[in-house]
Formats: sequence, C-alpha cells, structure tokens
Amino acid sequence: MDFGWSQEEEEFRQSVRQVLRDELPDGWLQSVGEDEDGDARSRFEADFARNMGRRGWLTVGWPEEFGGMGWTPLQQMIFNEEMALSKAPRKHMAAGVTLSGPVIMLHGSEEQKKRFLPPIARGEVLWCQLFSEPNAGSDLASLQTRAEEMGDFFLVNGQKTWISQGHEAQWGLMLARTDPEAPKHKGLSYFLVDMTLPGITSRPIINMADVHHFNEFFFDNVRIPRDCLVGEKNRGWYLATTTLNFERSGIRATVPAMQLFDEIVAFAKEGRDGFRPLQANPELRHKLADMAIQLHTSRLLSYRVGWLQSSGAPPSHESSVSRLFATELTQRLVQLGMETLGLWAQPTENSSQSVLHGKVQKLYRGQRAITIGAGTSEIQRNTIAMRGLGLPRG
Ligand SMILES: Cc1cc2nc3c(=O)[nH]c(=O)nc-3n(C[C@H](O)[C@H](O)[C@H](O)COP(=O)(O)OP(=O)(O)OC[C@H]3O[C@@H](n4cnc5c(N)ncnc54)[C@H](O)[C@@H]3O)c2cc1C
Repeated sequence: MDFGWSQEEEEFRQSVRQVLRDELPDGWLQSVGEDEDGDARSRFEADFARNMGRRGWLTVGWPEEFGGMGWTPLQQMIFNEEMALSKAPRKHMAAGVTLSGPVIMLHGSEEQKKRFLPPIARGEVLWCQLFSEPNAGSDLASLQTRAEEMGDFFLVNGQKTWISQGHEAQWGLMLARTDPEAPKHKGLSYFLVDMTLPGITSRPIINMADVHHFNEFFFDNVRIPRDCLVGEKNRGWYLATTTLNFERSGIRATVPAMQLFDEIVAFAKEGRDGFRPLQANPELRHKLADMAIQLHTSRLLSYRVGWLQSSGAPPSHESSVSRLFATELTQRLVQLGMETLGLWAQPTENSSQSVLHGKVQKLYRGQRAITIGAGTSEIQRNTIAMRGLGLPRG
C-alpha cells in the first residue's frame, strides 16, 4: 500500500503553491496582521478575493458552467491545505461560495442564477448566513422569524443571532417561517436578503478574544421582494440539505494547529527568563510529544475524508470524526500553549514583552467558539453515534 501522493497530485500541489506565491506578496501577513476585524486586513482580503475570482479560484469546487473549476474533492483538499499553510484569507470563500451559491445553482430560478452567481464567483459580494436565533441553534427547525406573503413581497419580522461577518456582508441567506401552522420542518422558506433593506438593524457581538466576528440582526417589517424567495415556499428545510461535491476533510482546522504547535515548540526550546529548561521538565516534553502524535492523527483523519470523497464514497460520520477531533484538539493545543509559555503567555500583541505576538492567549479565548459554530461537539457526537455506530437516536 502506498500512502504517498501521486506525481500528478504533487504537481498539482506545486501549481497551487505557485499561484499563492504570486497572489500573496512577501511580508503581506506582517503588514495587514492576522486580526480578522482590522481595516487593512479587510481591504487586503477584498483585493485577494477579486484576484482569486479572476482566476476562478474562489469557487474551485463549483461546476465550470457556473464559473468554478470543477475540481475533485482531493484537489480541493490539497488547495485548502496549501491555502492554510500560506495563511491565505478566506472570508470571501465562506457563506457565498459554500452555501448561497450551491442553493441558487440547484434550486434558484434562471434569473437568480444570472443575477447572483457571477458576482460571488468574482469575489465582489460578501454573504452571510442568517439562520440561528436566540432559541434556535442546534434545533434550527424551531426558528420563529416570520415571513408573511403579501403579494409581490414577504413581510419579515424577527431576530437572528451569531451572524458571522454580518456587519460586512451585502447579502444574506435566510431561513424564515412562512407557515406557522405546519409541522416545524415543513413551514420554512429560503430567502436571499439584501442587507441594506429598510427595517434591518444590527448590534455587534464582541467575542471573548475582543474580536468583532458576529452580530445580532433585527427584522422589523422588512419587505423582501418575492423574486428573492429560492425554490418553493415552505420547502426551505429540504433546500437546507443541499450540498455540492465540496471537500469536508477538516484540513483547514488541522494545518493552523500544526503551525502554532511548531511555534510553541520553538519557544520551549529557546526558553525565557523564569522558564524551566526542557531538559529538567520531562512532564512538558511528554505533553509536547503527545500533542505531536495527536496532530499527525488529525491530519490523517482529514486525508481519510478527502480520500473517501475522491473514491466516490460520500463521507458522513467520517467528516464529523475529523472535524470533532480537529476542533477539540485545537482547544487542547492552546491550553498546552498557555501551560508551556506560563507567564509569558499573558502579554497581549501590543506589549513590548509579548511572545508569539500574544497569539496564544488570544487563541485560548477565541477558540472556545470552534466547538460550537457549524454544529456543536455534542451534535457531532450524535452524528457519529447514529450514523457511525448505528446507535438509536437519543
Ligand atoms: C463562531 C460562531 C460562528 C457562528 N456563525 C453563525 C452564522 O454565521 N450564522 C448562523 O446562523 N449561526 C451562526 N452561529 C450559531 C451556531 O450555529 C449555533 O451557536 C450552534 O448551532 C449552537 O446553537 P446554540 O448556540 O443555540 O446552542 P444550543 O443549540 O442551545 O445548545 C446548547 C447546548 O446544548 C447542547 N445540545 C443541544 N442539542 C443537543 C442534542 N440534541 N444532543 C446533545 N446536546 C445538545 C449543545 O451541544 C450545547 O452544548 C455561529 C456560532 C459560533 C460560535
């Protein structure tokens, strides 16, 4: 059995690496920083998205007829791994490319396809996902935002929360209740929402790492034109299961963890005032060695999902296993980073005393959220229990 990459795959990887080298000028990360809410960073991300869009590289998993590259899941995985290794921005590859685009492609009208798909592929429009509500997260089908049909528009009232990038997005993809009498999964519809419509107001939510990542939105008698309903009214839940042949390996979570680990190990080798040398600290050495093994395991779990997809077997519980392992591992890693750096973990990025630009403490606070967004750890475990082990629903 050969666990290596084929020559073709290696050549593909090199070609991706070359394009990323061309698109990401030397020193770009130092000049715009890693903070997702900085102005310079936002401008750089928008330019990068347009440049990638011109190549068709923003939508590499979309079919070619819609402006994509039609790459296989394995090619997408190599692409995503290289993107992560070069720390390339991917805000514009989020909701628009992976969610709105596929829903419009498969269920939208011809007019909606012509109007909405090209700007997403060109990286001109940022989308957000308007699903969660204060009382509807894991149990999304219990959402209460109401959309009443009034002739050529729907009148929308309600509240959405935890909306990533909502403050920057020009358009949103929303699930709302169009039939309150129907069973909860059967009365929902899908809408494309112009975020500048009168009656939409928002409040920022600043996360534990002091980053403005998400927002809550209020809809007060908002008129959404009828031509922004996707598919049939009351069939929204079924559209929510729409997926294209996108890779679901979780490699994007594993690569940054491996990079951070390398930096933590480098710090531990170098040491600082008051730092117990590694030679005299067998406990820390063992913890670092154990972490190295877990990170390699995580990478292999990701490769397994990519390999399964490329052999035509759609992964189900395997992608939950990979995602669950990678996200919880990231939290264990930042915990270990805090232990390793000790008091040196405390100074923030603005301090002259900061170590690794203060990122360990910032990630320690920020990464609490990664086992909640896009399905909590418990929901992933439910999937593994039911689909992987065949256990009865709890
Ligand atoms: C960083 C981040 C970004 C997000 N971005 C978006 C976005 O862009 N758009 C959007 O619409 N939403 C977004 N969300 C919201 C996210 O989808 C929800 O937070 C998530 O689905 C959990 O829902 P909840 O917060 O209502 O918690 P709940 O569903 O109320 O869960 C509370 C607790 O109960 C547990 N639980 C719930 N149901 C079960 C069950 N059946 N079995 C076992 N345990 C269970 C959960 O695991 C959790 O521990 C984001 C969240 C985060 C953290």
